[in-house]
Amino acid sequence: MKKKICILNTGGTIGMVPTEQGYAPQKGFLASLLDEMPELKDAAMPEWEVIEFDPLLDSSNMTAEHWDAIGSTIDQHYEDYDGFVILHGTDTMSYTASALSFMLENLNKPVILTGSQIPLCKLRSDGRDNIIDSMIIAAEGVAREVCLYFGGKLLRGNRSTKVSADQLVAFESPNYPVLAKVGIDIKYNSAALLTPPQYGTFNFRPMHQVPIGVLKFFPGIQFNLFESIMTDKLRGIVLETFGAGNIPSYNNDLPGIIQKAFDKGTIVTVCSQCLHGSTMLGAYATSSPLKEAGAVSGYDMTTEAAVTKLYYLFSCGYSTKRIKDLMETDLRGELSK
Ligand code: ASP
Repeated sequence: MKKKICILNTGGTIGMVPTEQGYAPQKGFLASLLDEMPELKDAAMPEWEVIEFDPLLDSSNMTAEHWDAIGSTIDQHYEDYDGFVILHGTDTMSYTASALSFMLENLNKPVILTGSQIPLCKLRSDGRDNIIDSMIIAAEGVAREVCLYFGGKLLRGNRSTKVSADQLVAFESPNYPVLAKVGIDIKYNSAALLTPPQYGTFNFRPMHQVPIGVLKFFPGIQFNLFESIMTDKLRGIVLETFGAGNIPSYNNDLPGIIQKAFDKGTIVTVCSQCLHGSTMLGAYATSSPLKEAGAVSGYDMTTEAAVTKLYYLFSCGYSTKRIKDLMETDLRGELSK
């Protein structure tokens, strides 16, 4: 029997049309283009149906509310399809992929996010191959996790990051192997795939809007300027530190601020500005104060994964202690120690 794939159109360049203000999504346009693509009627293709979100978004406008809408649509139709292909803007695709990887608990079907750098209505669009390959991968059902497919590479969603604003191979997963390479054949890296859940049934966990912040360090940063935000306003903070988790030690404000934030229940997670490698709190004297003040290590997580994991864990309603522990625990293949 033919496999059946659900295409969820959330917006993004792939379905955009040129307007006087620049490219913008247009209702019904992408679905009409897909209807006209002879490749999608090929006998080798799975059956497919499109669900279009309203409004269609440039992905810069995505929020936790939209992740919820995508997750709950998958939840409602989980039994109706063999896999899901989510068409999405590239700008925040890695955030949505990471968020869904946490929200879709015990997932046992492929959920593939894809899009394009050039709209599908243009001659040289990369969207055509990205859609066809994603649909085939979703139908094959080998990778039963949230993935991002782009430019010939299937990546784990919560390991991916957008690395180019203009190249057609726009995403990488710097700290994790590619799940599949698409050339003449689709070659899966079976050792890198998540093991399908052994126990437990699929469950969708909605995400709530939680005050989360990301602070990127730079030489000369004055921590005191960020004190009230870090200690009063935020529940979770991702610090993008230097190298393996290092912070400047020319003034001693930061450990005190982190300690204060921590005492108020704010989770401070230490990630690195480097694309490759892991944070190791305590490896250098310049990272020890973070550890002592109660920060947790994000190890080799991307900022996208750390931010969405904080949203998820707070939405689960766990205690501060549990959230701290789980931030350092691998839940969906998002980190390695
Ligand atoms: N701004 C667009 C978006 O993220 C870019 C893209 O789709 O490539 O929706």
